[in-house]
Amino acid sequence: MRQAFACALLISASLAGGAAFAQTPGAAAGAQCSNPNALGVTRTVEIDTTGGPGFGFEHFKQHDFLRNNEVILTFDDGPWPTTTKVLAALADQCVKATFFVIGKHATYYPNILRQMAEGGHTIGSHTWSHAALGRKNISPDQAKEEIEKGIAAVNLTLGAEAAPFFRFVALQHPPELVTYLGERNIAIFSTDMDSFDFKARRPEQVVNAVMNKLKKQGKGIVLMHDLQHNTADALPELLKQLKDGGYKIVHMRAKGTVKSMAKYDDMLKKEAKLPTVDQRPTASVVRTVE
Ligand SMILES: [Zn+2]
Repeated sequence: MRQAFACALLISASLAGGAAFAQTPGAAAGAQCSNPNALGVTRTVEIDTTGGPGFGFEHFKQHDFLRNNEVILTFDDGPWPTTTKVLAALADQCVKATFFVIGKHATYYPNILRQMAEGGHTIGSHTWSHAALGRKNISPDQAKEEIEKGIAAVNLTLGAEAAPFFRFVALQHPPELVTYLGERNIAIFSTDMDSFDFKARRPEQVVNAVMNKLKKQGKGIVLMHDLQHNTADALPELLKQLKDGGYKIVHMRAKGTVKSMAKYDDMLKKEAKLPTVDQRPTASVVRTVE
C-alpha cells in the first residue's frame, strides 16, 4: 500500500512537472542572453531521428551537415556537481550544448538535470549505469535494460520527455543495438573529435586538445565530459578561444521526443525512495544557523 501510494505520488509529480515544462518554452529555451559580446549560437538544427540516424565521423558517415568553422559541443556522464560549472560557463557565453546523461546520475542529481533543461540545452541519454554494451558478458536483455532504464530515469527525473538522442559508452556500437535504436527511432551520436579530457591533468590540456583537432578538421562534433573537473575549469577559456578563432556554435535539437517503456518506468519506481512534493535543493531547506 505504501508502495502504491509512493508510485501514485511520483506519477502525479512527474505529470505536473511535464505540464509545467511544456508551458514555459521561454524558460526552457534559456532565451535571455545578457552578454552582448557572447560567442552565442549561430545556427540551430532540428534532427529527425526516424530510423535512428548515426552522427559523428569516427563511426558514421551519412550525414555531413556542419559547415566550415561550425562546432557542436557535447558533454557525457552528468549530471554531476561539476556540471553546474559547465552550465555557468555556457550561460555566460549564451551557448547551447547537448548532454548525454547517465540514468543513475540523473537520479542522484535531479536538480542539476533540471538546470540543464532550464538552460535550453538538449538532453539525450548514455545508458543507466555507464555499461559498455559491447562487452561479451552482457546479455541482450541486460543491454536493452541499460538503454531503456537510462531513458526512463531521465524522463522521470525531468518530468518531461528527453530528446531521442543516445551515445554508446566508450563509443562501442554493437550492430544489433544500432538496429534496436533504429527501430526505436533514436539517433546515435559518436563524435568527430574526442577531447580525451578524462586523460587531461590540467584544464589547458583540454583546451589545447580541442583547439588543435578543430584546426586540423575545421569543424565538428566535440566530445567532452561534464563530470571532469578539468573540463569544467577549461570551459571559459575554450569558449573564448573558439570565439577568437572565428568558430561558430551550432545547437542540435530533436524534432520529437523519446517515450520511455512502461516496464522500465515500473522498475525505477519500485527502486525509488519515497518522493515528496518538495523540489528545493538541500541548501535552501537546511541551513547552518549557529
Ligand atoms: Zn561516458
